[in-house]
Amino acid sequence: MTDTITSIDLYPLRIPRDVPYLGPLEEGNRPNARGYIIRPGNRTIYSIHDQTLLVKVTASDGTVGWGECFGVVGPQVAQTILQEIFIPFVIGRSPHDAERIYEDLYDSQRVRGYFGGFALDAIAGLDMALWDLRGKLLGQPVWQLLGGRRHARIPAYVSGLPGKTVEDRAAVAKTWLDRGFSAFKFAGAVADAGELAEMAAIREAIGPGPKILVDLHWHYTALEAIRLIDQLCKYDLYLAEAPVAPEDIEGQAQVAASVKTLVGIGEELRTVYEYLPRFARRCMSVIQPEIAHTGITGMRRICELAQAFHCSVMPHATINVGIVQAASLHVAATLGNLAMQEYQHSIFDRNLNFLHTDMACAGGYFTLPSGPGLGVQPREELFAYLIKEK
Ligand code: MG
Repeated sequence: MTDTITSIDLYPLRIPRDVPYLGPLEEGNRPNARGYIIRPGNRTIYSIHDQTLLVKVTASDGTVGWGECFGVVGPQVAQTILQEIFIPFVIGRSPHDAERIYEDLYDSQRVRGYFGGFALDAIAGLDMALWDLRGKLLGQPVWQLLGGRRHARIPAYVSGLPGKTVEDRAAVAKTWLDRGFSAFKFAGAVADAGELAEMAAIREAIGPGPKILVDLHWHYTALEAIRLIDQLCKYDLYLAEAPVAPEDIEGQAQVAASVKTLVGIGEELRTVYEYLPRFARRCMSVIQPEIAHTGITGMRRICELAQAFHCSVMPHATINVGIVQAASLHVAATLGNLAMQEYQHSIFDRNLNFLHTDMACAGGYFTLPSGPGLGVQPREELFAYLIKEK
């Protein structure tokens, strides 16, 4: 094959939101001049808008592939890394070498000490675009290139129950139950009456049976997390996510070995090297890889390693315009150890207006996009949200 990569263009985007992600701001919490806040519940930075970075790769015959980098905070950072460091090494290469390019770019940073962070986010979005381009050049969906599909539709869990009060949030879960969904995750960081009260209210609203997951946002010490999860299990907790700080590998292992429900971790990790010690210590029964951090190449490798350690996969869904979501579904469709895919309804449903795609989520399942590559194309309207300032 003689296809070569002739140009790579980048589009940082900022889409305004009426209500910030995770709900209204706390009393006295004001965005800074760049539009960022820190949530006191998990001490984490968020933008009050939805931000992302699109990557467009064009081949010598004019075929275009699209990818999307993790851009929740500072999408201009991955943009600069791509422009200054990675893109000049990729122009002229074959789009069929996506895995080789991922490895070469990763290798180029080793001695510089960049094993993760923004450098990997930049590689991830570019990797996604190369897989999309390769699929389009070959006339095949990405799941086919990855070795074949096991799932025609992907079970979805409803993530985030927006509402001012615990009663409102529990009522939101019930409305999704009525629409055919049977798994729900609530955020400990915004459970103002505490996780136990939140869990009790949601269970009361949806009755026995449906799955309830909680995101603990890395908030607790191991013993605090074990005690809390034991209490939540009285209401049939299905999964506890991110119970302790990611730096505390022994604490993660202690929680996973001590509680009587599933423990999920991994949305903040980017490579097999970050996952490996956690698999070895049995820190989790479920991994939650975020494809905007890992790329398609990295996510596949992480999920295969998970299989060797008998862990299942619930891919994470960050704020994105839908290219990330489509990429995650393509990988998920190929996995023997897939459990469910996170469904960020407040973001995913809006994004469908910005895309040419038949990707959907309804009745408890995602439907994969059809067509070659990833099966999603940004519409012209999306580029009205281009970030222009430096
Ligand atoms: Mg989470």
